[in-house]
Amino acid sequence: MLFVFSISVVGRYSEENQIKETLKGKRHLTKTEMSMENNGYVDVLTLDKSLKVSLMYTRPDNFTGRVLYDDLTRAYLHPLAAGAVVKAQKRLQELRPDLSLKIYDAARPMSIQKKMWDVVKNTGHSFYVSNPANGGGLHNYGLAVDITLCRLDGDTIPMGTKVDNMTYMSHIDKEEMLLRQKKISMEAYNNRLLLREVMRYAGFKPLKTEWWHFNLRSRAQAKKYFKVIK
Ligand SMILES: [Zn+2]
Repeated sequence: MLFVFSISVVGRYSEENQIKETLKGKRHLTKTEMSMENNGYVDVLTLDKSLKVSLMYTRPDNFTGRVLYDDLTRAYLHPLAAGAVVKAQKRLQELRPDLSLKIYDAARPMSIQKKMWDVVKNTGHSFYVSNPANGGGLHNYGLAVDITLCRLDGDTIPMGTKVDNMTYMSHIDKEEMLLRQKKISMEAYNNRLLLREVMRYAGFKPLKTEWWHFNLRSRAQAKKYFKVIK
């Protein structure tokens, strides 16, 4: 219901624009997507069409084995984070014009965070999911992104593990050891460094346990200055 999403990030998305778009038949937004836009979150593809988006929780082949996003296929972010992803993409294009960033997850409403927590809370995977009772994580503010590198046709390149691999193989502070033990290839190692280089350039900070996850703000900053997406 709309009143649930009454917080406003940067003011209301112009209703007039929505009507214009609907008349043109350009973008068909779901209820969740509409409320994201009403609250000022930005569909990153509207800023930079060269980005690739493939949200992993829209498909059952994620770590929960279930579809968690049944009416969200667009990568929404807080405007600051959306701008930063575009900056990272531009930096990547300068360094490697043959590559693109590919977004696996972006803003995640708290309602979906609760669904995810219910699936993992009594399993070994709970370490990797922010408990909604503790305010959730940076995805719930639209300030975090799960992201990888891909070729221009969208095919991903080696990163050592698949996204959401919940073992030490995904830990960025274990990479030197993983490389020495030949558990990840030199190519994957270098690709991870490149991903971190362009994301750091744009102001993101990596997470120690997930090579694909980047935060634009700390959790403390988010709690103090930003609002959770309900
Ligand atoms: Zn993440």
